[in-house]
This record gives sequence, structure tokens and C-alpha cells, in this order.
Amino acid sequence: MSTSGPLLLVVEDEAPIRRFLHATLVAQGFRVLEATTGEEALHLAPSHLPDLILLDLGLPDMEGLEVARRIREWSAVPILVLSARGMERDKVAALDQGADDYVTKPFGVKELAARIRVALRHAARVGQPSADAVFSVGTLMVDLARRHVTVDGREVHLSPIEYKLLTCLVRHAGRVVTHRHLLAEVWGTPQAEQTHYVRIYMRQLRNKLEENPARPRYLLTETGVGYRLADE
Ligand code: CA
Repeated sequence: MSTSGPLLLVVEDEAPIRRFLHATLVAQGFRVLEATTGEEALHLAPSHLPDLILLDLGLPDMEGLEVARRIREWSAVPILVLSARGMERDKVAALDQGADDYVTKPFGVKELAARIRVALRHAARVGQPSADAVFSVGTLMVDLARRHVTVDGREVHLSPIEYKLLTCLVRHAGRVVTHRHLLAEVWGTPQAEQTHYVRIYMRQLRNKLEENPARPRYLLTETGVGYRLADE
């Protein structure tokens, strides 16, 4: 274990995945602490105060969801869920329980490292709102203080709903935002049956902001879960 670098708590019962994560994360300069059960995770988190938790949803003694829920009762530490492909419902439930993001197994090292960096960066920024006043990725720039959106230096006019939707994604840039979260924040209704609102407005936003709306570069779809604004 190296002595500097953010401390990550890896909660995973499968030894090969745990070994892979350990080797990968240490090579990226992180310190790694491991738990193989939910109970162990709930014991280690308060005693070691990790900077981020990587949480498998399928644990032998309790649901990963339960672990996320119980950690959220006392801590705002970023929680990144490790989930199997096709388990969209579980991912959404974990995000609703306070998880910050997810990575789908099998994942690549680059993707995992990028998600961890985004979550750590976001956690470090909390409480410093002024640092977030201007967001930019590629040719897209969103000036939150002046309510000004440009693509390639050209001003883009957005409707109030489009702007709200975009700024909600900007505040979570790089991380997934669920349909439910967007509905609650933009429309004030968390009703899942109204996800078509999100789809309709997302299409409009893409038409205004993306060079090729059919193959978006910024406003990415997370199938069955929500959307993610690219941040690098
Ligand atoms: Ca498992």
C-alpha cells in the first residue's frame, strides 16, 4: 500500500475481481482497502474514512443497496457502484439510495479510473460553488453565472426548461443523472411514467448543442438509467 493518494474502499466478494481492482487501482496511485462483505464494509468505512467507496451490489450477507443506504445516513463519501450488465433497475435503485455513479462489469481500466476521478473531483468541489461558474467540454461552454451557453463561440438560445435540464447535467458533469432525478429537479415531479418529457427535451437540447444529434458527443444516454454529460 502506498502512503499517499486517495484511499479507496473496495467492497467486492469475488476474489478475482477484487485482485484485479487492487492491482489496477494501486497502479493508478490510489491506496486500497478491501471488504468482502457488507458488514465488513460498514465496519471499515467509519474507522478508515475512505475518500471513495467502490461497491459491488451482489454481496453474500446483504444487498449492496443496503450498504449504500446505511453509509449515506452519516457520510457524503462518493459511492461508485459495480454492477452487472443488464441490471438497470438495480443501478437506478442504488443511485436513488445515494450512490453517485456506477460502472458496468466487465469494465475497462480507463473507464473505471475516469469515473473515480470525476467522483473525487466533484466531492472536492462541494462547498466551493464559485469554482463551477463556467463549465466547458469540447466546443460547448456553459456560463452558469451569466446564464450564457455557447457552442464554438456562437451563442445558443435555450428555453427555460432546456436550460434547467442542461444546468442539472452540468452540476453533475461526468456522472450519471437518473430520469427520476431530472424529472424532480427540472419539472418538480419524480414520477417515472413522465420520462418522455426528459426524452423530448433532451432531443431538443441535442439538436441545439450537438454537431451530430444522432451521435451525441456531450449529452450521452445511459440506457435504462438516465443521461450523462461528458466532461472530458
Ligand atoms: Ca458479487
